[in-house]
Amino acid sequence: MDSRDSKRWTSLLSKKKEQDTMKFATKAIHAGIAPDPSTGAIMTPIYQTSTYVQESPEVHKGFEYSRTHNPTRTTLQDNLAALENGSVGLCFASGMAAIDAILKLLKPGDEVISTNDLYGGTYRIFTKVFEKYGIKFHFVAMEKANDLEQYFNESTKLVWVETPTNPMMNIIDIAGIAEITKKKGVLLAVDNTFATPFLQTPLDLGADIVMHSVTKYLAGHSDVVMGAIVVKDEQLGKELAFLQNACGAVPGPQDCFLVLRGIKTLHIRMERHSQNGKTIAAFLVNHPKVARVYWPGFEVHPNHQVAVKQMKDFGGMISFTLKDNRTEAAFKVMEHLRLFSVAESLGGVESLCGHPATMTHASIPKAEREKVGLVDSLIRLSVGIEDAEDLKRDLALALEAL
Ligand SMILES: *Cc1c(COP(=O)(O)O)cnc(C)c1O
Repeated sequence: MDSRDSKRWTSLLSKKKEQDTMKFATKAIHAGIAPDPSTGAIMTPIYQTSTYVQESPEVHKGFEYSRTHNPTRTTLQDNLAALENGSVGLCFASGMAAIDAILKLLKPGDEVISTNDLYGGTYRIFTKVFEKYGIKFHFVAMEKANDLEQYFNESTKLVWVETPTNPMMNIIDIAGIAEITKKKGVLLAVDNTFATPFLQTPLDLGADIVMHSVTKYLAGHSDVVMGAIVVKDEQLGKELAFLQNACGAVPGPQDCFLVLRGIKTLHIRMERHSQNGKTIAAFLVNHPKVARVYWPGFEVHPNHQVAVKQMKDFGGMISFTLKDNRTEAAFKVMEHLRLFSVAESLGGVESLCGHPATMTHASIPKAEREKVGLVDSLIRLSVGIEDAEDLKRDLALALEAL
């Protein structure tokens, strides 16, 4: 690292100290963000440039080439690091590119223990890409943290957790798992996409790496695809920054600008997503045509107490099944929804619905799916921030069509 780089690190750390005293809403709007030095522009400009003019070779302002550093991206990365209570934030071209970078910390022969109820794309990159390079994956139920110890051996290097899980809304005890990974000297990575740092900060619970599909709640407006990693440990941050630059899957400055704008309302959006989620979960659980509702806010949810302990609220993701447990019944309800659009993805201001058995989890054999409760009538909702009464009426009318 040259002196300019170390200066950047030092200034990042002093900024961090100041930010440690800010509350979440203030950090969302201010952390890592300063008026543009050349004009005073209050909003971070979109530095749409690939390169930077140097006074003389190697004499520059800390920016040489935009794969390595771009001011719009740096601002977003610093903001994300502050929101997750980490010290280094790194943005990637997609959530999958962020996962790719984390796995490149490993080498052939290493083993990973992962949640079994997992985002489909994560399962795919683990089994179809990294197994080829000699990394071994174990997919296990993690609802009881103590059950995890049996899967460790000499080669275990990483534990991968997603919580709440997709689409079954299981909750995994991050602090409980971190206790084991710390004892074993193994890295713990948490995909925090569903919860966002507003609801849950895994680094505070002992995780080493937080990963996001920024595409979802962080961007929040269904107009960007992006990923991010945040870590506390500086050495680990440097290794990941090396991979970000060496492999090169970085986002463009315009997308970074859009996400910076989105994050300014993250706390307000998450509050409303959570409020609407609660209203919709309560409506569905009392509906005569609904069989089961999966939402961590219910006291009967098997890990409700863990959710209460590690999350500020329960978010806007809900899955439910119908008493008429056929795919056709689920399709009929979804076709009659007007405000909930049928679409992949989640976390935008508008409500979406999806059918995991045929959309996101179609590649998993039916028998395997059904073992974890992912039956044909399961519908997943990403409850938006529209008026909750309108959303309830939309669901009521669609269920009436059955
Ligand atoms: C969408 C998603 C990803 C992948 O992110 P992309 O931005 O689509 O590449 C990873 N994990 C979870 C939980 C997701 O929802």
